[in-house]
Amino acid sequence: MSVLSVRSLCKSFGGVRAVDHVSFDVDPGEFLALIGPNGAGKSTCFNMINGQLAPDDGEIRLMGRDIARLPPRSIWRLGVGRTFQIAATFGSFTVLENVQMALISHKREVFRFWKPAAAHHEQRALDLLDQVGMKDSADRACRELAYGDVKRVELAIALANEPRLLLMDEPTAGMAPRERNELIALVKRLVVDRGISVLFTEHSMDVVFAFADRIIVLARGRLIADGDANSIRENAQVREVYLGTGKTFGRKRETTP
Ligand code: ADP
Ligand code: MG
Repeated sequence: MSVLSVRSLCKSFGGVRAVDHVSFDVDPGEFLALIGPNGAGKSTCFNMINGQLAPDDGEIRLMGRDIARLPPRSIWRLGVGRTFQIAATFGSFTVLENVQMALISHKREVFRFWKPAAAHHEQRALDLLDQVGMKDSADRACRELAYGDVKRVELAIALANEPRLLLMDEPTAGMAPRERNELIALVKRLVVDRGISVLFTEHSMDVVFAFADRIIVLARGRLIADGDANSIRENAQVREVYLGTGKTFGRKRETTP
């Protein structure tokens, strides 16, 4: 069964058909990229899936269950995590406390500030920080961290909630190319280990082609292509919509027979 199944999803803003009868599936453990030029409808799709926007029409199913129009909190509880476009961390708390709070929230416990921190999943939080390479910064306040490090902590927080599906709308916005690659490589490594599916958008085509298992392409609200990196690179309609946007698609990698 698909983890996520989207059918004929529609959303208009005034006269603009932001998302126009879009259908796709996300399979278990799949790392799926949603691409398209600015204004194609990517964020609108994400926001309908995570419950921030109500669809005008269409179906959104998570593990077969209809989640369209549920409030964001309920969708999160059912296993749809999201990062990084929201400020997930509390600046005055330490890195460790932020991950501990996420674990507490996931277990539906109540955070008691007067209890020693050790009582709150400390070891599990440290393990998660270790996995994102932030264990050495556990006792620093989040507000002191560099931008790329905040993203790593946000990833640990997202994983603390043990999602089935992780939604990432432009996770690497504002990052340098090398940092982008590192962050996506890290996300991929950690989600593959856990069997978590990912739906993400990303401006760098190099990153998309290097990491996505499959790519779906939106243009003016419509899904125009669905396939692996090579088929998307060679797709004439996809090239057409990207013409003039300054994006390059590179050459198909030659394989020696
Ligand atoms: P993308 O994320 O692919 O850049 P969006 O989903 O943000 O695209 O936007 C798709 C279209 O919907 C654009 O034409 C955008 O201007 C419009 N749009 C998005 N959100 C709103 C909104 N809240 N109100 C009005 N128009 C919107
Ligand atoms: Mg967007």
